[in-house]
Amino acid sequence: MNSRRRFLQQGFWGALGAGSLRLFSRDEHLFPPQAPKGALPVVIATWDNRKATAAAWEVLNAGGRALDAVEAGVHIPEADPNDTSVGYGGFPDRDGNVTLDACIMDEFGNAGSVSFLQHIMHPISVARRVMERTPHVMLAGDGALEFALSEGFKKTNLLTDTARRAWEEWKVKSEYKPIINFERHDTIGMVAIDAQNRIAGACSTSGLAFKMRGRVGDSPIIGAGMYADNEVGAAAGTGLGEIVLRTLSCFLVVEEMRRGKHPQRAVEYAIRRIAQKYPKQAAENQVGIVAIDKKGRHGAFGLQSGFNYAIYQNGQNQVFEAGHYFPAPPK
Ligand code: ASP
Repeated sequence: MNSRRRFLQQGFWGALGAGSLRLFSRDEHLFPPQAPKGALPVVIATWDNRKATAAAWEVLNAGGRALDAVEAGVHIPEADPNDTSVGYGGFPDRDGNVTLDACIMDEFGNAGSVSFLQHIMHPISVARRVMERTPHVMLAGDGALEFALSEGFKKTNLLTDTARRAWEEWKVKSEYKPIINFERHDTIGMVAIDAQNRIAGACSTSGLAFKMRGRVGDSPIIGAGMYADNEVGAAAGTGLGEIVLRTLSCFLVVEEMRRGKHPQRAVEYAIRRIAQKYPKQAAENQVGIVAIDKKGRHGAFGLQSGFNYAIYQNGQNQVFEAGHYFPAPPK
């Protein structure tokens, strides 16, 4: 393909941004086909989390606050035993412990977070309590658990039979490294704007399956797994936390929107940053980011094909495939 044709296909920003035309796959830089103009209220979530966006929409549609909407939305996968990456039913670490990470932000820029939390089904609500009832932003491990119990949360066994069996199978080879493949990621990152133009974001995960004990990823780190700024917009992510942490991807997305980028261009920019800075890990793993700006416009993009997202807007709850940086593997 000659470079002019490639340029036209990829668009100006694609060609300019990378400094190298070869770095782009054909289907990159396409705006999401739906609702490019934006509308409020809106809620968007990583992966096909339509049940979660529906729960959030109920709050938004009743005139509720974005913060309540994202908390209600994230509760859905947290309580779902079939979701093996979030809350109850999440795959354990390599020693068989389910350990959870979550964070939340409101329209005032307040933030709360928990990491390495065990035995509590709804870490997102504990994160909210940290935000609202403590002078801190983040509580970890036993301290987070003690705080949750003192707030009336109940201890629950989060290891389901399915997750235990998967862990026992994994133990047969017991490779001393996180096993990462795209299907194992379905952390929920969710951001919303309500009818009064208030923004909020939330993120919740059990982290990488069979991770080292004590490992914490991007999801509870404000600015890495999620970031929201009421003046600009919000972003949330999923995928290999180690490369999101090192680039503070969601903060980067929001800052790029602040500088005037459309959410789609902003998420492409952040994903490209990961791919260029950590080419080997990026090529072998997935990261996906969703974003909205204050006009209710959205963007979504992944390192690899297969990243999809749910968006509830204009009364419609839909799921779409996101564009991706690396070419899709041949079928
Ligand atoms: N981002 C999560 C983590 O690294 C994992 C995931 O999204 O699947 O903990």
